[in-house]
Amino acid sequence: MKLRENVPLAPYTTLALGGPARYFVECTSEAEVREALAHAGEHGLPVFVLGGGSNVVFADEGFPGLVLRVAIGRDEGIAFGEGDGAAPEIRAGAGADWDTLVRGAVARGWTGVECLSGVPGTVGGTPIQNVGAYGQEVADSLVRVTCLDRATLERRTFTASECEFGYRDSRFKRRDRGRYVVLDVTLRLARDTPPPLRYPELRDAVARVGGPGSLDAAAPADTVRLVRQTVLALRRAKSMVLDPADPNACSAGSFFMNPVLSAAAFAELERRWKAGGETGVIPSFPAGDAVKVPAAWLVEHSGFPKGYRRGGAGVSARHALALVNLGGTSADLLALAQAIQAGVQARFGIRLEYEPEVVRVPT
Ligand SMILES: Cc1cc2nc3c(=O)[nH]c(=O)nc-3n(C[C@H](O)[C@H](O)[C@H](O)COP(=O)(O)OP(=O)(O)OC[C@H]3O[C@@H](n4cnc5c(N)ncnc54)[C@H](O)[C@@H]3O)c2cc1C
Repeated sequence: MKLRENVPLAPYTTLALGGPARYFVECTSEAEVREALAHAGEHGLPVFVLGGGSNVVFADEGFPGLVLRVAIGRDEGIAFGEGDGAAPEIRAGAGADWDTLVRGAVARGWTGVECLSGVPGTVGGTPIQNVGAYGQEVADSLVRVTCLDRATLERRTFTASECEFGYRDSRFKRRDRGRYVVLDVTLRLARDTPPPLRYPELRDAVARVGGPGSLDAAAPADTVRLVRQTVLALRRAKSMVLDPADPNACSAGSFFMNPVLSAAAFAELERRWKAGGETGVIPSFPAGDAVKVPAAWLVEHSGFPKGYRRGGAGVSARHALALVNLGGTSADLLALAQAIQAGVQARFGIRLEYEPEVVRVPT
């Protein structure tokens, strides 16, 4: 275990923000994770578990304890199991790159994660918020997650139903927040199965890219490859893939979650909107008995259009939900996030929740 001191955190995050970690360690095995946690316990250090840094905001002051970066399986840590006639399974170390896993699955023509192409970060980060895009979630294919309990150093395996997945949600974000280190993840995919195209935006784009009739005529494995290609193109157009040359991609992806409203709350939202003299329709999607409203629409209609800039932070010029670092500080970014939250609350009476984890300095 190589413990380093005063390591700037900004290079380890996609937002390129955050001061130094008092201590920093990269763990490439379970044994190293155990050693690091034991060391932190002996010295009374708070620990923050980091993956690819694509969903975190560190403070400008940094982190006064140990940042434990999980790198298990980063190199060659993805096992693609053919499943011997049954459904294929993929087992990957938590530190493996998520999109490398997706690329490998798609290359084999397996269905289940193609809509999650281009999502940055590690495999171990995906169950934390149940990563999702274009109507697909990691919960759809996840079989089990192996974890290490940070307090007892005992191993524990969770099945998908035990993970208590929801929309950008899991037990790891709620009752077990900060309790476990994810060590590895197993997914079960499908062969010869047409991919689900639940979002009209994606379905239309796939049909455009593939040409007329392509969706009906193509073999499922070819459609899976077409979906990945299309998702990557759609995401690039929104600066939702990492690209050092693209200033709009210096983000943590969507900063706010889409609010899910009861029918009564949605009716109240419509009443407020129309009371202001507006006649346009509020976009919404069914979510069980409730209604999901695009947070991007709420943000844009509360005075924060794409390209809005305030201090060293701004709203992406290509996606109203992504807040971008324009050479500023974490304080700039969080001030903008708070201003947007307050603006949406004042205009629509809805409190937007942050999607990334804001790492508070423990007191
Ligand atoms: C450009 C861009 C686009 C994005 N698009 C999407 C999208 O379409 N859909 C979506 O859902 N998300 C999206 N995200 C958010 C992000 O990529 C995902 O949430 C990703 O899964 C985070 O993984 P990570 O390894 O980077 O985690 P980190 O950012 O390092 O950590 C995020 C959280 O997970 C915890 N964590 C990470 N690894 C472990 C581990 N091994 N054990 C225990 N806890 C751990 C951390 O403590 C923290 O709480 C996007 C981000 C960016 C920058």
